[in-house]
Amino acid sequence: MYDLCIYNARVMDPASGLDRTGAVTVKDGRIAGIGTDAQEAAVMIDAGGQVLSPGFLDIHTHEDGAPAAAERILPVQLAQCALRTGVTTLVTGNCGTSSPDVGEYERGLAETGVPVSSFMLIGNATLRRLAGLGSYDTASAAQIAEMCARCERELRRGAVGISFGLQYDPGTSYEEEKALWETAARHGRIVAVHMRWDYPEKARETLGEMLSLARETGARLEISHIAANLYGSLENGENVIAWADREIRASGCDISCDMYPYNVWATGLKSAVFDQGFGNFNFGVKDLEILTGKYAGQYCTEELFERLRKGGEEVQVACHNAMPPEDVEAAFRLPYCMLGSDSHMVRTPDGHLHGHPRGAGSPARLLGHFVRERKLLSLMEGLRKMTVLPAERFGLAGKGRLAEGADADLVVFDPDRIGERSRFGVDVCGIPPAGISAVVAGGQVKYRPLIF
Ligand SMILES: [Zn+2]
Repeated sequence: MYDLCIYNARVMDPASGLDRTGAVTVKDGRIAGIGTDAQEAAVMIDAGGQVLSPGFLDIHTHEDGAPAAAERILPVQLAQCALRTGVTTLVTGNCGTSSPDVGEYERGLAETGVPVSSFMLIGNATLRRLAGLGSYDTASAAQIAEMCARCERELRRGAVGISFGLQYDPGTSYEEEKALWETAARHGRIVAVHMRWDYPEKARETLGEMLSLARETGARLEISHIAANLYGSLENGENVIAWADREIRASGCDISCDMYPYNVWATGLKSAVFDQGFGNFNFGVKDLEILTGKYAGQYCTEELFERLRKGGEEVQVACHNAMPPEDVEAAFRLPYCMLGSDSHMVRTPDGHLHGHPRGAGSPARLLGHFVRERKLLSLMEGLRKMTVLPAERFGLAGKGRLAEGADADLVVFDPDRIGERSRFGVDVCGIPPAGISAVVAGGQVKYRPLIF
């Protein structure tokens, strides 16, 4: 007798290329079999011809280590929001900021009963703060050695790699990067980088720094939210993404990237991104929409921007007019580009989650808007970007595939209806995506809405 059987499904597995009508059975948290007919199980789900795929991986999220230990772990609420989008595995600690201690992080997850699998990158900014460095400070040789020792310890304890947020910590030197990249390379782990600049005039320098480090250290590079940093045109008129793709392939280095399926970015209003003013950007203060805090849903004025920069709590802002939509699409067409929501939500005093809707709708938007409506990718290719590709890239054995013995993380969805329904500036997790009818994590049915 099996624990679970999902039958009458269009079983799609990008790892094997399988795409046929059949059934998947589950026992003790693992996939027990993939066949054509239903098997007797404690829980039976008739998929009614909908797609059954491996649970989705979101390799770019933020759970960045708040000061209080109780808040340092991914809140159950955030994980539930991810789960309702079909995400069963998260990678946190991106863009340089993480919990300082992966052991403590994992204990916290286990204690709170977070319903998804979660893996952590150790953040370079976190290491820098522990070494006493501010965002503009340059590390001494002793501080670099201290950071490398701490990084080494966290990698041994199970961190899946190291992340950098170079734009947020402009003081990060090439020497510091190189030493930490080498540490990750020795362990065969990922180096995920939010690059140093985010406008076309700096594209050559931005990517050049990455390619040089990848060549020198042999580390496995993951370029974070590629089209948020590389977009627009070079001085010769060439599209930056097309140029970057050529450079990346020519380098022969081990490089992949991630992106969220929105041409709207978001970041902290007090971050170093705005330290140089707006002279380099193709947008102004008035293009920034406030996503969190008491002004959520309002656009910035000069006065409000200055006031929020100076005092009070950090707020997140979104920019709707920076990245060209065609560059986000070009990024997703790269075969080595994976889904990464860049989700970073904040809990309001009344318990809602505010932020960019990418945290509540990225997989659904990729499959609904980019695959079905825009026909940018095949359904199988869209699924590959959030299943086997990220699982292999981050070395997450058992994730991202439908195979006997693999972790029983599964999603059932209607490819004709799947789509995001979340909006900016409000309770982003209030309305789940359309078309997702069942999500299984670790062999348990965790989400099964009556109306979907
Ligand atoms: Zn980032």
